[in-house]
Amino acid sequence: MSGRVLAGRELAATIRAGVAERAADAGHRPALAVVSATEDEASAWYVRSIAKAAGTVGIECRLVDLGPAVGPDQITDTLARLSADDRISGVILQTPLPGGARLAALAGAIDPGKDVDGANPRSLGRLAAGLPAFPPATAAAVLAILDHYRVPLAGRRAVVVGRSTVVGKPVAQLLLDRDATVTVCHSRTVDLPSVTGTAELLVVAAGRAHLLGPRDVAPGAVVVDVGANPTPDGGLAGDVDPAAGQRAGALTPVPGGVGPVTTALLLQHTMDAAEGAGGGGPG
Ligand code: NAP
Repeated sequence: MSGRVLAGRELAATIRAGVAERAADAGHRPALAVVSATEDEASAWYVRSIAKAAGTVGIECRLVDLGPAVGPDQITDTLARLSADDRISGVILQTPLPGGARLAALAGAIDPGKDVDGANPRSLGRLAAGLPAFPPATAAAVLAILDHYRVPLAGRRAVVVGRSTVVGKPVAQLLLDRDATVTVCHSRTVDLPSVTGTAELLVVAAGRAHLLGPRDVAPGAVVVDVGANPTPDGGLAGDVDPAAGQRAGALTPVPGGVGPVTTALLLQHTMDAAEGAGGGGPG
């Protein structure tokens, strides 16, 4: 028997419609600033998709392209300047960054109240402390899909593969907040399938195409595939072989799963920030 497909496009459209309604009611156009310092093709594609989606919901997307030769100080100055600009509601910094700079090291310059992709380490810290903060949009998208399909979380054995600050760690935190029993795996985990095979809920964010196959998931498990790995033919492959969907109870597709929901939530966070909700307050 084949598992359920937990598609994200319809949910993303519902989220965008809600944002569009709020933007129309607001009577002004919230702006999202996207700071980029890379010529990376995948990043450029992502920025275009944010700009396109923003346009459909009445959010202005302001691209600030600093080019790959820019230094870290100029990046942080730009983030601070945009954060201080009353006309801008949300600020995000695209990766990869020049010179191998770490996102967390530079994103501290984004005001937590405008940190709509939860990149400022203060946002992650506040999240861990149970204080209001914007979670990274991808981590929020994982939870949004699980909630949309009414997947129970409390008491569930959840395994997260990946421990990055943008996906793995915040997903683990959000699942913990929802009373799941969470195990986090990474590249040094010994015998990965022996752990993933115990998961009732499996979230995979390793960035390795088809890292896990049908034998690595438990029968009936709910599997969220965050992976978005470019393929030679210009497509995208997930971290989970789609054949695993036949053994799992449910699997998100790639493309069309977590990706569109992530973009929609980035816009929702921008709207939240424009209305003064979200991260950074005294909580
Ligand atoms: P990342 O920063 O490269 O982190 C990857 C994580 O996976 C690391 O913690 C790494 O372990 C772990 N890992 C790598 N190989 C592994 C292996 N063989 N076994 C077990 N763990 C392994 O990547 P990321 O930014 O979190 O992104 C992960 C994936 O999600 C990528 O495919 C990315 O494109 C995708 N993504 C999708 C969206 C979306 O909206 N759909 C958004 C963001 C990211 P170590 O810590 O030990 O190195």
